[in-house]
Amino acid sequence: SYADSIGAPEIPNVTWDDVGGLTDLKEEILSSLFTPLSSQGLSRSGLLLHGPPGTGKTLLAKAIATECKYNFLSVKGPELLNMYVGQSEKNVREVFARARESAPCIVFFDELDSLAPKRGQSGGSGSVMDRVVSQLLAEMDGIQKSTGVFILAATNRPDLIDSALLRPGRLDKMLFVGRCDDNESKINILKALTRKFKLAADVDFGKLVEQLPLRSVTGADFYGVCSNAWLNAARQLIKSTDSDGVSQEDQSVIVTMEHLRMAMK
Ligand code: ATP
Repeated sequence: SYADSIGAPEIPNVTWDDVGGLTDLKEEILSSLFTPLSSQGLSRSGLLLHGPPGTGKTLLAKAIATECKYNFLSVKGPELLNMYVGQSEKNVREVFARARESAPCIVFFDELDSLAPKRGQSGGSGSVMDRVVSQLLAEMDGIQKSTGVFILAATNRPDLIDSALLRPGRLDKMLFVGRCDDNESKINILKALTRKFKLAADVDFGKLVEQLPLRSVTGADFYGVCSNAWLNAARQLIKSTDSDGVSQEDQSVIVTMEHLRMAMK
């Protein structure tokens, strides 16, 4: 069944520090979600994160779960949809049943627009989708604060989502996660992504960011840069230990400014 494919929800290992930049947004999340009484759970029913791809919506969702020690159940909208009559609604019910069993639990609906488009629109599968949306609304209304289930969702297209989902008691808070264009945020994202790297003394993120030809970037862009830089550093290390005959245990991967520059290019 679909529920079997979900697996057992766990507390993620993404920390608040793994999310770089987005300072105001992180502030806003902390103050609106975590009350002084956070032992009583999160202080809202749901939150919708919207913004362009790769800006850190999924990362933030996981960090929120880690922060409040909730299990995390991730559902990609399109994967839940099923061509068999009634099966998609059943999948929705199963997701919520699994979340209640795993409480305290955050259910994260990625690509929510594919799961909850505006109802009553013409189109081949219109009425099927309407039933999925109704089921989703019913389940959202069925979870009381006391059940310890919190709904998080993400989308690139909030304009496509049925507005009933955004009413009070449902996804009643919406926050924008944007690309970043100021140098300070860029530096912070690079720092977050290289938190566990060994960096050479010459690494200067300020300089790196100044040389960047793009004005606006996403965390995912920088993830590509950092993993590339690390890979190149690792390759270089392997080459040098091959030729020197130095044992590999004495060596560790050190990422230099040059590795980062090359990767940035
Ligand atoms: P999509 O809309 O495509 O699902 P998304 O907004 O959910 O994208 P994520 O999946 O969270 O984006 O980001 C992809 C990867 O980019 C993350 O796993 C992380 O490595 C990196 N990343 C994105 N934003 C940040 C950030 N603010 N700080 C650190 N890393 C980030």
